[in-house]
Amino acid sequence: MLEPGRYIKDILRQAPGTAVTAHGWVKTRRDSKGVHFVQLNDGSCFQDLQVVIEAGTLAEAVLKQVTTGACIRVEGDLVESPAAGQAVELRARAIHIFGEADPATYPLQKKGHTMEFLREIAHLRVRSNTFGAVFRVRNALSFAIHRFFQERGFLYVHTPIITTSDAEGAGAMFGVTTLDLMNLPRIAQGPQAGQVDFSQDFFGKPAHLTVSGQLEAEIFALAFANVYTFGPTFRAENSNTPRHLAEFWMIEPEMAFCDLAGNMRLAEEFLKYIIQYVMEHCLPDLEFFNKRIDDTVLQTLEHVATSDFAHITYTEAISLLEKAPRTWEFPVYWGADLQSEHERYLTEETFRRPVIVTDYPREIKAFYMRLNDDGRTVRAMDVLAPRIGEIIGGSQREERYDVLRDKIRQQGLDERAYWWYLELRKYGSAPHAGFGLGLERMLMYLTGMKNIRDVIPFPRTPGYAEF
Ligand code: ATP
Ligand code: MN
Repeated sequence: MLEPGRYIKDILRQAPGTAVTAHGWVKTRRDSKGVHFVQLNDGSCFQDLQVVIEAGTLAEAVLKQVTTGACIRVEGDLVESPAAGQAVELRARAIHIFGEADPATYPLQKKGHTMEFLREIAHLRVRSNTFGAVFRVRNALSFAIHRFFQERGFLYVHTPIITTSDAEGAGAMFGVTTLDLMNLPRIAQGPQAGQVDFSQDFFGKPAHLTVSGQLEAEIFALAFANVYTFGPTFRAENSNTPRHLAEFWMIEPEMAFCDLAGNMRLAEEFLKYIIQYVMEHCLPDLEFFNKRIDDTVLQTLEHVATSDFAHITYTEAISLLEKAPRTWEFPVYWGADLQSEHERYLTEETFRRPVIVTDYPREIKAFYMRLNDDGRTVRAMDVLAPRIGEIIGGSQREERYDVLRDKIRQQGLDERAYWWYLELRKYGSAPHAGFGLGLERMLMYLTGMKNIRDVIPFPRTPGYAEF
């Protein structure tokens, strides 16, 4: 019967004359005089295996079932292929049909489907050229990320998915509860009378799905020095954009004994490493994206992998943007957050390479970022890349107890909820820094795919959680 590891990818590398058995799904079938051509794919590589069936080799009943979408096993011999772009093809001796696919109803017909339609058939779109390539790149990228950190001795830490603290203090969280929504327990008396009594809930207080693993990663950095998280993250922001998902994957390294300069160096090295890895291991997939999705993909990746990133402060960035000969949709002034149009101008027109912007105004960044001596800016960094804008956000963290406590209070956060985070600054505190990269944003960058829903297997967005 079947064994794992016998892939079309391997069959394509074997010499003519070898007898092989191939398994896969029929992409297309073409009939010409006396011979049938079948493109067979098993997801192991971009290239299909061409199967050639001479008329009379197979019973009519079997041949009839070899249609787009059917799953088959082919036994035969490899022969040199006269066709361009492939060394060998498989001359079929026998075919077994595992599962037919009625051509009258099979939804994934040859070409021309919109991405929106394909999203509705996410159980079948994975068999198409585009999504085959997307998920091979996603796999290679995930492996490259682990390899990068593991090679450098970073500890992989699993931070909790259910949490009772909000990392950013910014809301947009999914609640987690076992309370009966039709019959909520209420607080009977006192100042909170009438409010939901979460002491009766599963965790005894309100709980949520995590929006970031950073705060818990900091706990581990202050014991293992260099750590990283790589896990699912949830945000209930009701923004129907092509760049936001309700469930996505985030990578968050955190380094003790590291300042902003070290953080910037690591982020640059990291981006170059993962781009190079994917270019080395998924070139046929990237070439497909370059040809069919966005013809700047390869050029931009090459460029990012080989150029030195520029460094400027937020204050310098604002002054460059103020002098820019153009009108902005979003106004530019010191204190304003940089919008996508500003980020792209800096990286695509001013510097023509990736740019790291540092030292943002404290008001527009999270409470945990280290306050600079000017009292107005924090040690934040955003890495901006051509074509997409912000791709990484990070900072040196505030390691001084008093300063951190004051910032928590000033931002109107409940300091009791951060008791353990504050204690890290009381017992064995150390300078530390880290950053976050959204896996799907990086995948959009690598593939040129325009909608984030098309780089995750089963997208969750407002109003949609099928499959
Ligand atoms: P944005 O301004 O695009 O909403 P953010 O400032 O909320 O991003 P962070 O809180 O810094 O983002 O999160 C770290 C990274 O996670 C981002 O740089 C981005 O790559 C990714 N990210 C954030 N929100 C989402 C989302 N809703 N879906 C997918 N990826 C996201
Ligand atoms: Mn956001």
